[in-house]
Amino acid sequence: MRRIVQLAMVALALRGVCAWAVPAADRCLELRKHGAKAEAKTCFEGLTRAGDAATRAEGFWGLEQYDTANEAFRQAVAQQGSAAAVRVRWGMLLHERFNNQEADDLFNEALKIDPNNARAYLGLAIVSANEFDSKAEEYLAKTLTLDPKLTEAHELGANLLLLNAKPKEALAEADAALALSNEALEAMGVHAAADVLADRNPDAWFAKIHAVNPSDGEAYALVGAHLVLNRRYEDGVAYYRKAIAADPELWAARSQLGINLMRLGQEEEPRRLLEASYEHGQRDKPTVNSLRLLDSYKNFVTLKDDTTILRLHKNEAELLRPYFQPELHKAIATYEKKYHMKLPGPVQLEVYPDHEDFAVRTMGMPGLGALGVTFGEVVAMDSPSGRKPGDFNWGATMWHELSHVFILQATNHRVPRWFTEGLAVHEEGQAHAEWSNRLTPDILIAIRGKKLLAVANMDQGFIFPEYPSQVIVSYFQAGSICDYIQERWGDDKLLEMVHSFAALKTTPVVIEEDLKMSPAEFDKAYMAWLDKQVGERAAEFDTWRNGLKALAAIKDDETTLHTAPGIIAMYPEYVGGANAYEMLATAQSTKGDKAAAVATLAAYAKMGGENPDALMTLATWQQELGDKAGAARTLDSVNFIYPENEALHRRLGELWLAQPNSVGAVREFGAVVALKPLDTATAQYELAEAYLASGDKEKAEESVLAALEAAPGFRPAQKLLVQIKSK
Ligand SMILES: [Zn+2]
Repeated sequence: MRRIVQLAMVALALRGVCAWAVPAADRCLELRKHGAKAEAKTCFEGLTRAGDAATRAEGFWGLEQYDTANEAFRQAVAQQGSAAAVRVRWGMLLHERFNNQEADDLFNEALKIDPNNARAYLGLAIVSANEFDSKAEEYLAKTLTLDPKLTEAHELGANLLLLNAKPKEALAEADAALALSNEALEAMGVHAAADVLADRNPDAWFAKIHAVNPSDGEAYALVGAHLVLNRRYEDGVAYYRKAIAADPELWAARSQLGINLMRLGQEEEPRRLLEASYEHGQRDKPTVNSLRLLDSYKNFVTLKDDTTILRLHKNEAELLRPYFQPELHKAIATYEKKYHMKLPGPVQLEVYPDHEDFAVRTMGMPGLGALGVTFGEVVAMDSPSGRKPGDFNWGATMWHELSHVFILQATNHRVPRWFTEGLAVHEEGQAHAEWSNRLTPDILIAIRGKKLLAVANMDQGFIFPEYPSQVIVSYFQAGSICDYIQERWGDDKLLEMVHSFAALKTTPVVIEEDLKMSPAEFDKAYMAWLDKQVGERAAEFDTWRNGLKALAAIKDDETTLHTAPGIIAMYPEYVGGANAYEMLATAQSTKGDKAAAVATLAAYAKMGGENPDALMTLATWQQELGDKAGAARTLDSVNFIYPENEALHRRLGELWLAQPNSVGAVREFGAVVALKPLDTATAQYELAEAYLASGDKEKAEESVLAALEAAPGFRPAQKLLVQIKSK
């Protein structure tokens, strides 16, 4: 699965590092660091008149004339024998101006000239950290080997450790920075952030920061960034407000304030904030794309009731509403009961048919965030129309995100990432067994390679993955840890853990206190449990893979009939592309054994198989064998996967009308109408029949009139109208 490219500048943007490349710039940067803005400006202006291009570049950079600064650096680097340090500074400018790729190139060029340039490695570490790439740690280690006294390197290390939920180690690094410089503002900011995250009073640190620079806003912004990365959006917003109050020209913080207010469901203030930031040169992707997203809101309709706010694209609102709204209510009611709590306000669900619009919501956030994302009481997710049929189950995604809404609320957003993700994955399986945690090949390979993490280190797998599939592997592991806890200790134990996390206990403490065992004992017990279930599959993975490949090459049905069951038995959870179930069912059907083919595809569906074509075929065969209720169940499951299919709704509508389930039939024929079929008259006529069966004469008449408007000579509709009138 693809990792979202992270372009947010603000998360860990280090403040202006000192200009060792051009000693003349040091004084100006010092002035700025101490809040003497006017004097700093005069100082930078002086630099712009220097004969040396690198010095001029520093001057223009300090004056925020970025294009001119960029040009001056270009000239400086073009000079023969120009130093590696100039490339590093240019790289930092580009990084600051939202171009990490070119920044990266310049740091690497610098290393070609001077392989021991610690600051070039630091640059690479900053860019990697900015993109939540685990390489950041490697580069940082290299930096510190080359120059153990580089204050900024210790500051970045402190930030990364805090982000990795290791506050103790983070503070040790921050102290290392402060031992090197008693004006290490970023290190003080990390201290403040750690205090805020742990609900301690951070005022002493802010006092120290303001003793250096009375108008410093960056430390507040840093705290805001850490809060947001810990999903504490409202608290993050409060800190971004403090940041721009202290320094109104902190455009990155102003933009982040706007973005996070959008996440909380607001529009007016974010627009003002983002436009102002953009005007002042804050043109990073999150700012630009968030403005674009605000513009696209005019294409959405908002449907409100007591407990929900549903925002759907106007082109699909009529189709999706009858499915999404009741499911949302069902999930809310289920979780209220299960978690013994009520939400303080309505849940806002936004459904984006354009994946890019949705992706804007998750920019600058670590992890997958590929299907849905929760911000407090606001949930944004993809629409099934925005993805390949079979790729995505909107129902499972909705239940997953709604679990986050409750757990974030229950813990006041103080829950480790691994636990809230694990519980959300677990809840998908509780809502529908077919939606259970999916054991994909990536996961088996990780299990075989003994790459699962210890429970105390689970967060790292989500935030700084060390191998490409570690994020999905971590989702699986976290989900199965919750499955295990529920199986061994029951539902209430999970709820007890929620409350312990709310009380700010760490994962090791929660395991000790709630499960009465050490984290190491827990890991051992969990791994043994997991091994019993999937250990054999992991060990036989290669045999299975070779077997499946051979099966796919078999041309005659007889051999397929003999071979496929063994492959399925070896790894029954595999329902992905080119799976043995579909091959076997096709062979069984060709051989005329429809009952066996139905059993095969039913087993596939039970394991979570979601290819809509295979499920539609299963429904057809079930119907042919007279199992109408089974066919209806199968078709209804496709509603969660790909509702943009006219034939699906028509067939299910007919089945339900016959059952009779007139409420279901109204929904299905309504969906046919919403899809604007070529034959409107028939669609409206069928909807009218469903309404009539459900006892809603008024609606039935409305639909039949719509049918006659489309085709005035349509006899069945004329008859139905007479029938309705005579009732
Ligand atoms: Zn999640």
